[in-house]
Amino acid sequence: MRLPRGFVTSCDRPNLKDMTPSELEQVISSLGKEKYRARQIMKWIYGSGVTDLEAMTTLAADFRRELGELVRISALRIMGIQTAKDGTKKILYQLEDGLTVESVLIPGKNHWTICISTQAGCQMGCKFCLTGQGDFKRDLLPSEITDQITQARLHTPEGPLLRNCVLMGMGEPLANYENTLKALQIITADAGLNFSGRRITVSTSGLIPGIEQLGRDICVNLAISLNAADNKTRSELMPINRKYPLDQLLAACNRYPLPGRRLLTFEYVLIGGVNSSAKDAQNLCRLLKGTRCKLNLIAFNEFLGSPYRKPNEKDVLAFQKILIENHFTAIVRKSHGDDIMAACGQLSGDHFPGRLPE
Ligand code: SAH
Ligand code: SF4
Repeated sequence: MRLPRGFVTSCDRPNLKDMTPSELEQVISSLGKEKYRARQIMKWIYGSGVTDLEAMTTLAADFRRELGELVRISALRIMGIQTAKDGTKKILYQLEDGLTVESVLIPGKNHWTICISTQAGCQMGCKFCLTGQGDFKRDLLPSEITDQITQARLHTPEGPLLRNCVLMGMGEPLANYENTLKALQIITADAGLNFSGRRITVSTSGLIPGIEQLGRDICVNLAISLNAADNKTRSELMPINRKYPLDQLLAACNRYPLPGRRLLTFEYVLIGGVNSSAKDAQNLCRLLKGTRCKLNLIAFNEFLGSPYRKPNEKDVLAFQKILIENHFTAIVRKSHGDDIMAACGQLSGDHFPGRLPE
């Protein structure tokens, strides 16, 4: 048996978890087997968490053995799980090369949301984000993105209750476009992780070509980390704004194909004395006028070494009030798990990162 070109790597056997459903079908057909075998294999991998081809008893024993010589199935290693006072959990995963990444499980009323990482570190350098302060290590592979969900489903009590998935952990998903798209194809496949596209949100700092490509390639929700309503402030906070300034970003967002009544989400981290005044709120209303969206306001989560501070609560509520008066849906997002550095922008891939003294 031989694999088609492109699936052969010189150093290692290809990992079935890096293949999209159609790539796996292609491999299985090239080996002379029926296409539905690919579906069976996916069900073993994603539904039952099997990593050993020998255990896939719906496949003929010869085929299992032969396939096992050609390919492999990886699994992320859980290094630790921390639980915050509010029930939020942070899972630290080890990748095969020893690097670590984090996922966060966030409780809802009847279900849980998993927040997953797409890169080890981040290159975007946003000034208010702990992930952006550390070194960028590398892009995650499709298997490393999806396995954060697979392993959480298998090894945490909340696993079966995971219903929403947000790509808001470490890294910029659209800077690792190809692998993120492949992961999304696996996450939404019914024989894969079987999430509805409606329950998946990709969050970006605003890479316009990626936003446009994502809209063409798959149907998922889009969140944009806006964080400022004028170019001067945004460029100071988020260097990417110098390349893709606000007017162009908003134009791309408005072109994003949103099915039915779905809305774009704009995330806005409120930082004391930087972007949280009444004037900033008014600028934001002007900027987003006519855009089908909702706003998530997040009070800045502090971390050691950051020059920024939380805004006071009064300012947060005043900011929200201005948005609501201008007919926007604006929610002040509770900070989940900040006591274990699991809140937005606090992930570092390190067990005890930039925690502020008690
Ligand atoms: N790179 C993508 C996905 C990561 S999401 C993006 O930036 O959208 C990380 C989210 O946490 C972003 O919305 C970001 O604005 C927010 N964030 C980063 N640092 C934060 C901090 N210190 N406090 C609160 N939110 C923060
Ligand atoms: Fe990267 Fe997003 Fe943090 Fe910016 S906010 S540094 S893009 S993870």
